[in-house]
Amino acid sequence: MEWSINRGSHVCSLCEKTFPEEEVYLSALYDENNEFLRRDFCVDCWEKRDSENSFSYWKTKISKKPEKVEKYAKIDVFYDLFNKLENEEDLSRINFRYVLSLYLMRKKVLKLKSSRKSNENEYLVLHNVKEDNDTEVLKPKLNAEEVLAVTDEIGKLVNYTPQVIPDNAS
Ligand SMILES: [Zn+2]
Repeated sequence: MEWSINRGSHVCSLCEKTFPEEEVYLSALYDENNEFLRRDFCVDCWEKRDSENSFSYWKTKISKKPEKVEKYAKIDVFYDLFNKLENEEDLSRINFRYVLSLYLMRKKVLKLKSSRKSNENEYLVLHNVKEDNDTEVLKPKLNAEEVLAVTDEIGKLVNYTPQVIPDNAS
């Protein structure tokens, strides 16, 4: 399980300018009708964005060619998401948070302390190494395939999906 942020010819979702090499741009996840959507912004447009439903964001720098295509996503992005999903009751969000916790455990940001059962639900008690406190994660009844599907969904959000841009677009 490894999520990555691609470098590529990203485009600002507001002014539609293509980010040149070495440009720093910002990406935000939006919570729209209980679905996460990713949008990229140039620095100039960042302040003009609709920040109301903005859920989580991160910065990326377009690397110089011909560097490696992929750069692993910053753990901070997932850590931030994990924290913000703490009180979500929607099942897909609970699944999302559980998969994030698996990733953060692998990255040693969270450590499994114990588990407990309550009303037929199983909770993982995790120690947050960074903030030295404990947090609980509801363990959904997911099989390995379903965990992979959620992993894939998260991966798609942080990855850049190539867009077809006409040659003379301006
Ligand atoms: Zn822009």
